[in-house]
Amino acid sequence: MVVLFGTISVILLTAYVYLQSHLKTYFIRQVEDTLKKEVYLNKNLIESTLGAEPSRSHTRLIADTIGRNLKVRATIIRADGTVLGDSELDGEHVKQMENHLERPEVQDAFRKGFGQSERYSKTLKKRMLYMAVPLVVKEEKIPWIVRVAVPESEVLGLEREVRKIIAVAVCIAFVFSAALSVGVALYISNPLCEMAAVARNMAKGDFSKKVYISSKDEVGDLASALNFMSDEIKGMVRKVTAEEAKFAAILSSMLAGVMVTDEKGRIVIMNPSLRKMFMVDVPAEGKLPLEVIRNAAVQDMAAKALQGVRALASDEIQLNVPQERFIQVNGAPIMREGRCDGAILVFHDITELKRLERIRKDFVANVSHELRTPIASIKGYAETLLDGALQDKEHSKEFIKIMYENSDRLAKLIEDLLDLSKIESGKMKIAFLQVDIADAFKRAAAVIANQANAKSISIQSNIPAVLPKVLADETRLSQVFVNLLDNAVKYTPEKGTIIVTVSVQDRFVQIAIADTGAGIPSNDIPRIFERFYRVDKAHSRELGGTGLGLSIVKHIVQIHGGNVWVESEVGRGTTFSFTIPIA
Ligand code: ADP
Repeated sequence: MVVLFGTISVILLTAYVYLQSHLKTYFIRQVEDTLKKEVYLNKNLIESTLGAEPSRSHTRLIADTIGRNLKVRATIIRADGTVLGDSELDGEHVKQMENHLERPEVQDAFRKGFGQSERYSKTLKKRMLYMAVPLVVKEEKIPWIVRVAVPESEVLGLEREVRKIIAVAVCIAFVFSAALSVGVALYISNPLCEMAAVARNMAKGDFSKKVYISSKDEVGDLASALNFMSDEIKGMVRKVTAEEAKFAAILSSMLAGVMVTDEKGRIVIMNPSLRKMFMVDVPAEGKLPLEVIRNAAVQDMAAKALQGVRALASDEIQLNVPQERFIQVNGAPIMREGRCDGAILVFHDITELKRLERIRKDFVANVSHELRTPIASIKGYAETLLDGALQDKEHSKEFIKIMYENSDRLAKLIEDLLDLSKIESGKMKIAFLQVDIADAFKRAAAVIANQANAKSISIQSNIPAVLPKVLADETRLSQVFVNLLDNAVKYTPEKGTIIVTVSVQDRFVQIAIADTGAGIPSNDIPRIFERFYRVDKAHSRELGGTGLGLSIVKHIVQIHGGNVWVESEVGRGTTFSFTIPIA
């Protein structure tokens, strides 16, 4: 608005100044042109009117006539400069007029045929504009001069009038331009400013502001287009933000580690799982993988993934700090419009998988081995008997006894394996009932009593008289007791002691079976519940163990919602404890 008003003002002022400076010149020129035309017109008239001997009164009359007709001062001057007639003065005054020969316009008229000057007239006492031309008079060798003059004030008066009109016009134009500027501001500039402010807010992410313009013209169209655009962008931003939040939530809740790099191999995203996996506690964004994860294999994988085209690179990384772990890394390039835009690497901790795989392999090997040993023994003795040893009454009984023991072991092994497989496949039938733990212990102790007596081992119990019942399958609970008591008797030397203590811990009943046996080395403790894991294989076999007892105990306790653990000191004894929920 200011610019518009300013521009109009400058144009008006320039026009005004220009007109002012040229007005006077223009008017004078106009008057000059008129005078010139008139003087020439009169020159012819006078020349034809003047006779051979023109009298003063005649010339004065001519001058008067011209002056009156043209409303100018007309003067007729003889060749010697004597004024013969003047329309402004009477005869007497004319006679007293000084010689006009030296007047510049007169001199110019003689010399050039036309004279003009602008100066102060002593006769009329005002500034006048003069013009003179020579007159050819009969009988006169040197021409006379006719001069016309107008007061400059007349010209200036007219000019002042015009000047006033122009000033008024300019003032009116100013008022109009101010009104125009206000109009433009109201209808165009203000809405545009409002829209610019809304657009700036949009750029800053604030979509709450709207443009309120209801005009039906282009400005109104522009405003509603801007409002529509604002709504659309707001919707899109909301969608993108929601997607981003979803993506971030997925990334951070993923168990797998994820790393995304740009096309230069610099990290763009590194999720919390990956940070935890490699113990990264510094900002990773913008750095190379090697700067954050001190592992050359990860850096190699990132480079490989960037080079590959759609192909999936895969590798296994072994970490030794803080403990041995195996990480499976899969990397692939991120392709966009046919070119590689970065890479994505996914890290899976496969340590547990590897451990389970090893256990599975060990299990198969162990089962075959455990089965083969008694079968080989039975087969060997059967062959010996068939080969004639049957006749040897003394040894044959011994051989058959060994065959019986091995088949018994085989049966126990198969029974334990079946139990384990039933538990693991969820096919074992468990009937949860309210069970008295003291009764369960007594029944198990009765089963073990003979073995214990044979080794003079005393089984003592430390069970409170009043105990809450537990929620358990009675048969399976007895199996847990039997397995643990059996182990305690097996691995405790003669005359040892086994103490069974029962207590209530929170919402569980806790049972501890402590012996005074050989104890278990601390290295073996973490693996003691694995299938077929035995500290001393030969010794365990000798004692009729299958290596599955503790594994079965662990599974049964877990099915009941309890926990089992072991504390042991080599040479002093072992305590197995387990919990069963109170009914
Ligand atoms: P096993 O049939 O060999 O006894 P288990 O699974 O019952 O198999 O036990 C696994 C191993 O744990 C045993 O071979 C033995 O080395 C060790 N073990 C179990 N109980 C005891 C204990 N009370 N004292 C010492 N060692 C034990």
